[in-house]
Amino acid sequence: MLLQSKVAVITGSATGIGQGIAQLFSEQGAAVLMLDRNEEQNRTTAEKIRASGARALALAVDVRDRASIRRAVERAQNELGPVDILINNAGIFPRQPFLTMTPEQWDEMQDVNVKSIFHTTQAVLPQMVARKSGKIVNISSVTFHLGTGKMPHYVASKGAVIGLTRALSRDFGEYNIHINCVTPGAIRTESEKHFVSADDEREFLAHQSIKRRLEPLDIARACLFLSCELSDGMTGQSLNVDGGWYMH
Ligand code: NAD
Repeated sequence: MLLQSKVAVITGSATGIGQGIAQLFSEQGAAVLMLDRNEEQNRTTAEKIRASGARALALAVDVRDRASIRRAVERAQNELGPVDILINNAGIFPRQPFLTMTPEQWDEMQDVNVKSIFHTTQAVLPQMVARKSGKIVNISSVTFHLGTGKMPHYVASKGAVIGLTRALSRDFGEYNIHINCVTPGAIRTESEKHFVSADDEREFLAHQSIKRRLEPLDIARACLFLSCELSDGMTGQSLNVDGGWYMH
């Protein structure tokens, strides 16, 4: 098992990619602290994980709420142990053309997708620095590379995630803390069904080199690699997992 005895904090763990990460990490031996504002679904996911014999603590947290993140991390440290891994996955992706976008819509996007990483990372980093060990994986998006239209506040937020990843990896590399990023392509999740049509799916597959829809497990596996010793030589990088759509 690649994460035996590790403690991982995962945001946005109730559904989709975050749920897939929590499940895979617990299968690989980690105890998981699951933070999500969707309390009921998060609890259901944690119960499934515990039923398989792993340790999982689900807490209702809005990642914009700095104080409740700090309380949650303290609780994780007391009940599960020091945090080895942080996965910043929680995110929103409403489409909104630029000219009709309100300042409130802009701010909400940056608060959930970027400022939350400031809060969570500040909550876990001091003890990672003290222990000279840590892995942080931030979930960005291939839309930053593609410059996808109709959601400029989202694309800007995901670019900021890459910038923050690079800057923090320079500052904390000397403490043996690895900070990397995953840029998922089009991943088939429950929430995707609300805005992805059959035509969209055909278009995704036309762009991808691999001709199947990607699933949360595909992203969870990349996060696993970046959270275990297999990636010990990497920091500040963005791993693109999109079935061979954008290449760089
Ligand atoms: P999802 O909607 O299935 O899951 C997101 C989770 O985050 C949900 O459980 C939601 O409750 C939680 N969340 C949202 N806002 C929150 C808040 N303020 N506080 C606490 N929890 C909050 O979405 P997903 O597709 O699994 O996306 C996960 C991440 O992957 C996001 O950062 C998203 O931008 C990124 N991503 C997804 C895709 C895709 O195709 N699905 C592609 C690229 C990037």
